[in-house]
Amino acid sequence: MDEFHYRGGVLHCEDVPLHEIARGAGTPAYVYSYAALERAYREVEEAFSGLDHLVCFAVKANGNLAVLRALASLGAGADIVSGGELYRAMRAGFDPKKVVFAGVGKTEQELKAGLGERILMFNVESAGELEHLERLAHLHGKRARVALRINPGVDPGTHEHISTGNVESKFGIPADEALSLAERAKGFRCVDLIGVHQHIGSQIVKVAPYVESVERSAALVDELRSRGFDIRYLNIGGGLGIRYRDEETPSPAELVEAIRPTLAASGAKILCEMGRYIAGPAGALLTGVLYRKRSGERSFIVADAGMNDLIRPSLYGAYHEVLPLDEGADQTRADLVGPVCESGDFLARDRDLPDAREGDVLAVMNAGAYGFSMASNYNSRPRPAEVLVREDRWAVVREREHYPDLIRGELVPAFL
Ligand SMILES: *Cc1c(COP(=O)(O)O)cnc(C)c1O
Repeated sequence: MDEFHYRGGVLHCEDVPLHEIARGAGTPAYVYSYAALERAYREVEEAFSGLDHLVCFAVKANGNLAVLRALASLGAGADIVSGGELYRAMRAGFDPKKVVFAGVGKTEQELKAGLGERILMFNVESAGELEHLERLAHLHGKRARVALRINPGVDPGTHEHISTGNVESKFGIPADEALSLAERAKGFRCVDLIGVHQHIGSQIVKVAPYVESVERSAALVDELRSRGFDIRYLNIGGGLGIRYRDEETPSPAELVEAIRPTLAASGAKILCEMGRYIAGPAGALLTGVLYRKRSGERSFIVADAGMNDLIRPSLYGAYHEVLPLDEGADQTRADLVGPVCESGDFLARDRDLPDAREGDVLAVMNAGAYGFSMASNYNSRPRPAEVLVREDRWAVVREREHYPDLIRGELVPAFL
């Protein structure tokens, strides 16, 4: 939380008091720290030093163009999961040679777009997708570089909604089917099988599941090589957790040290796809307090940000620290809730929270990943502004939506 800190009793992002941003950009607003993005990216980058590697940023964690541009300029690659993310990544200036494309349901249009940009590789998740790629690449005179996304059958020990590497998951190719699929790919003229990919889940706070799954993936690299495939990449995915509350999370260095022998022995170029670790701590959601109220024994702080702006608490029961902009506020037992017409609309539930009054602004911390990117217009609420801070400068990097944005593309037919 170093880039978000109290100075003179006032919460700052880098050198900018958050009061200034709340006044200038309004609330709710997401605020991102350039320095925090840079620090986390470099930390991951340096953890892999000594290995041939590329750190990709998982665009779905935070797809803001300015955030992406910052990371692309630092040398990051991009991990994308849709054609829309490919579009964003290209507009942000990522080198297509550093783009990897995952996802279980890539459409023909999305595969074509990836081929057209000559991205580094597709992380293929099914036999059908591989056949599709072969046909499209042949049709358009392209070559498709491919990694097989393996389902290593490892439980990452995280929330079930964000576990992806267990046997029952829809993601990846079951490890025991990967070899036969690879053999079939030998008959394909336009597909180059060059990598093995895994991504076992998100907000992983233990090293052991990584060690186990990386060993399985590395064994597959060896097996494929022994069968004549020129496997040059081992993609270990993302998922490294962050400290939202009191989780003991491994650092990138600790993670890489645990798997370094396996990575080094693979002789492959190592790719990773961190999203949350890079963007999560770099963002806060500023929300204004509208009302205070009580119901029975319960005390509510009603804020202007709700589950449509930050869905993690409602969706996963996720914990986000809530800080007052002025240090030393009294604490009170309360729920921090939004204006959305759902009982599940809360940012914090039954917690010791700043005893904020109407008109105060609160900062919901660690909201830089899966915050704005999961925001919706539910209840016809315009999505919040996004702000990027760099030292003493700040800029709105996405305007707050306006009412006309809410009905853009909607049409009333003539038969009404
Ligand atoms: C979501 C995702 C990531 C990033 O996960 P984080 O937990 O944000 O690091 C990486 N790779 C793939 C394939 C993903 O779907």
